[in-house]
Amino acid sequence: MEAAALIVGTPIALVTIVGEDEQWFKAKIGIDVEGTAREISFCSVAIADCTEPLIVEDAAKDPRFAENPLVTGPPAIRFYAGVALISDKGNAVGTIAIADTKPRTISASQIEELQRISRKASVLVGLRRRAHAIAGTLALDRTLADENADWLRTHDELTSLPLREVIRDWIEILGDEARGDTLGTAMQGKNASPSSIVAVGLIHFHEINSRLGREAGDQIIKKIAQIIASELPERALLTKISTTGFAALLRDTDPSQASVIAERVRKRLQVPITPPGGSPTEVSASVATATTGPSAEFTPDQLLAAIDEASAAAKALGSEVLVEADRELVASSTRRTTMREALATALNSNELRVHYMPIVRLGDGEVSSHEALARWRNSRFGDVEPEEFIVVAEEYGLVARLDAFVLRQALADFASGKVGGDAISVNLSPAGVTSETASEIFSALRDAHVPHECLTIEVTEREALATNPLLTDTLVELAAGHVQVALDDFGSGVTSLSHLVALPIGLLKLDQSLTRNLVGPVRERGLAIVEAIVTLSKRLGLDVVAEGIESEEQIKILELAGVTTGQGMLLGAPMPAGTT
Ligand code: C2E
Ligand code: MG
Ligand code: MG
Repeated sequence: MEAAALIVGTPIALVTIVGEDEQWFKAKIGIDVEGTAREISFCSVAIADCTEPLIVEDAAKDPRFAENPLVTGPPAIRFYAGVALISDKGNAVGTIAIADTKPRTISASQIEELQRISRKASVLVGLRRRAHAIAGTLALDRTLADENADWLRTHDELTSLPLREVIRDWIEILGDEARGDTLGTAMQGKNASPSSIVAVGLIHFHEINSRLGREAGDQIIKKIAQIIASELPERALLTKISTTGFAALLRDTDPSQASVIAERVRKRLQVPITPPGGSPTEVSASVATATTGPSAEFTPDQLLAAIDEASAAAKALGSEVLVEADRELVASSTRRTTMREALATALNSNELRVHYMPIVRLGDGEVSSHEALARWRNSRFGDVEPEEFIVVAEEYGLVARLDAFVLRQALADFASGKVGGDAISVNLSPAGVTSETASEIFSALRDAHVPHECLTIEVTEREALATNPLLTDTLVELAAGHVQVALDDFGSGVTSLSHLVALPIGLLKLDQSLTRNLVGPVRERGLAIVEAIVTLSKRLGLDVVAEGIESEEQIKILELAGVTTGQGMLLGAPMPAGTT
């Protein structure tokens, strides 16, 4: 019954049993009375023809109900939709009904959901009976079981919302309609209208589950479903497309309307959520939209893929922005998926290379160590920037293998003297860290006969640094084993000083942007920041390396600020082993 109210968004929902003279409300939301006389009940009309749902969009204008006391007096019903509940003997015994005090409309997808809910409720009634008296024919058992299986297959257990395949079915219908348009009678052309999807994805919801417990997490998700439903227009079909993702299909809604609705949902979810009996909890939710229709960017067939891409992009950007799917976004996703396959092959076929970039003492220009950087040239994509393929590797779970390859190659090149300096630095993506990572790094060191003190592991602060507890353990283990840990790209915008306290960092690598700011219009502020970081590092006993040095002037200012080591194109570009 809650599901019925959620799907259509009405304030009143009822499960009724219709008797000879009366109807009783077995369960109810939004109405006080326990039942009504049968002669004035809407539901008795609904069950008179139990094959069709009874939809009354405006009771005041319907001659069958205009004079009904439930319409003319409290609760002043205007809208009603009821579907018969069929008992295991095949009789209509009552209804699942929803009602509102204002007139409204209901979409075909919502009616179908209502019918599903009623079949599910009928099954429950049937099953409960059978528990008391083991009667009922085998054939009947079968249909009940099928009905139940159909429900479980297509509905989310927690919220009772329809699952992804239900929205997919409805999108398919849009596709059929659109194809009808292109074959085209003038009439169909006129009827073609845009449809939109608004998707909501919960970010890091597992943290809420682990902090408050699974049960509280479930309550919060239910509450979120209600909040989203309450912000949707009346004919929208809300579905649950993943464990922490919702998508609503809005027919006759153009992109600008869809973004207004999506913005409303986004804003509502920024307010802490209080589940029944719980305390206010902040959730982080991403919101995205995609639209199909005559002038929209996508055909219905592309709509679900488009919303998936937009949702992924929205998730990466967080709860502050709304992402609207466009062609460019979807094209880049196609590139990413093909790149994933190529990268997986590359990892098996030695297509990846490692280049080494010198890290230099600014005072005398002496190379103190090198940073190993992954390089990838692919027959299809050409030279791919690490910024691009590392992200693909992280997204598709390939980065641990990539990092392990670079580590072993770098240690071998360092051990054989092909790469000079006293030490070697290797990047480690937090996304690929497992409980085995530290011991894998130690065994790579052992295999290459490189002392632990000669290795620096660089971690870049992306979101995982804060959220992956395994990473902290791994870094602590590495530091305890005398491997130096460096915080890469320090000051690039996502850095939090708290990591300097929580993680066993021995080296800070100043982000290129800080070095760039030392010259040019913001030089005064740029210098103040670098000086402050140097002071902080001294207090914490950290080494500092400046990244992105491209001019002598930057070196001078860095030395004035107390930075003694640097890396950058001026000092040496990344090169293959043996040429450094
Ligand atoms: P990073 O670890 O901060 O590496 C430094 C990046 O800055 C390198 O880019 C380097 O070529 C570039 N760079 C250094 N000095 C200068 C300069 O003066 N001017 C300019 N324009 N660029 C400079 P690259 O090789 O493209 O790597 C980009 C990022 O990709 C790296 O940033 C690192 O985060 C990631 N990455 C590279 N190799 C690996 C790897 O094996 N594993 C992982 N997990 N990440 C890697
Ligand atoms: Mg690095
Ligand atoms: Mg860096």
